[in-house]
Amino acid sequence: MLVTTEPSAAPQGGTVPPGGGDLSALAGIALAFSGVPLAGTPEQVASASVEAVRRVVRGPVSLAVPTRPVPLSAGDPRDGLSLLARFPAPGGEGELWAGGDGAGLPDEARAALVEQLTRVWQIQELRAAQTLELDQLRFHLNALQQVARTLAVVRGAEETERLVLDSVGEVFFAWWAALYHTDGEQYTCRAVRSLRGESVAYAIPSRVVRAVAAPGEPPVVPGKDAEIRDHVPAEVSVVAPLDLGEGNAGLLILGRRMTDAPYEPHDLALLRALADASAIALRNAELVDRLRAQATIDPLTGCHNRRGFDEILSVEFARARRYNRPLSVVLLDIDHFKHINDDFGHEVGDHALQRIGRAVRHTFRATDSACRYGGEEFALIFPETGKEEAFRLAERLRILIEQLPPNAEVPRSLTASFGIASFPDDAVETAELLRAADRALYQAKARGRNRVELA
Ligand code: GH3
Ligand code: MG
Ligand code: MG
Repeated sequence: MLVTTEPSAAPQGGTVPPGGGDLSALAGIALAFSGVPLAGTPEQVASASVEAVRRVVRGPVSLAVPTRPVPLSAGDPRDGLSLLARFPAPGGEGELWAGGDGAGLPDEARAALVEQLTRVWQIQELRAAQTLELDQLRFHLNALQQVARTLAVVRGAEETERLVLDSVGEVFFAWWAALYHTDGEQYTCRAVRSLRGESVAYAIPSRVVRAVAAPGEPPVVPGKDAEIRDHVPAEVSVVAPLDLGEGNAGLLILGRRMTDAPYEPHDLALLRALADASAIALRNAELVDRLRAQATIDPLTGCHNRRGFDEILSVEFARARRYNRPLSVVLLDIDHFKHINDDFGHEVGDHALQRIGRAVRHTFRATDSACRYGGEEFALIFPETGKEEAFRLAERLRILIEQLPPNAEVPRSLTASFGIASFPDDAVETAELLRAADRALYQAKARGRNRVELA
């Protein structure tokens, strides 16, 4: 039986009175639902809906709404109640069960209930969608801010690559992330961040990458049969092209997420923004590395310049002292270089310097450092090398220079003099070591040139 909020207006018996009785019943339903707080939480809306229906059926009421992830139920236990109405609700179809007068409710009143419940829960659905969207936007904004802050600091390429993988990997909860660079033919892996030690391909042919995501295109989730999957041992979830400038392209690949959630369109939109920001940071880092190298390399000879020499020597000297290992420094000065300039001009002098620079750079191990110390003086740093060994190396270089045949660029043979000093024999700090080597060089000059002298 149907009731209004006014007990005196409740009709008697199981039937609904005609005419005005119907109207007041419908008005009663509307009135009862006017108390439901539309802006409340789903739980508040559910219990207010139950309360409204209770006033209509004057008996127990149970409401079920299939909200996700947890379905919602409110009101009384369902035992003994019968299904009164179904209505569109968040997550599917809601159900209203009632006892009391519910079973005798006429169709019109049921329809009015369904209408009210539909209205209330459609607003909830809208609100839930908007809240989700807002949450996502907030997350995106946070991620972008965090990544922008991280990448805004100017760093070298290696550190930037690591930061890009860390921040993008963390934003998407990816088990692994990898950065690739292309040389045109293929994409090679530059850096990997892997939480479970996944191994990643060493190279992917460019043709295979282009088939999935060409440079300039947005990130994609490759299809199950995409060939790129054959080239990456770990499971690929998403692939984002990177525009690294000057025609260079890169690739960011992310693995599965810890949440196992798929990459939705909004994730791909965020990834695109992050990939673009990362690409700019990587470009800048490349530039920084190049400038740094330029700042420490002598452009004429390709050897380290004095600044590079000082940096390397202080690092190597500290290491030698800490681990109590030998270290030798060799100073080399070209003999009578002034004559070369005077007899053939400065251009030939420059060619001669380039020639000696090449000889000095290519004669020794990768761990040894060749530097242009001053005008026509070079310095060599030999870590892990004692005096006798340094002497043998310098002697080898002396003979090599002496035997360089004259050619069109440098029409005269050259010789050089060498001075050697070693840690710990001759000095316990760098300036002292250099002074000792310089004295030895002076000795070599004084004793006739084209010779090696020890401190
Ligand atoms: P020695 O060392 O055997 O005593 O004689 P030297 O003639 O080499 O000695 P000195 O140090 O007096 O002369 C070095 C000359 O090297 C002076 C300078 O004209 C020349 N020089 C220094 N830097 C450069 C350079 O970058 N290019 C050219 N062409 N010449 C340079
Ligand atoms: Mg000199
Ligand atoms: Mg000289």
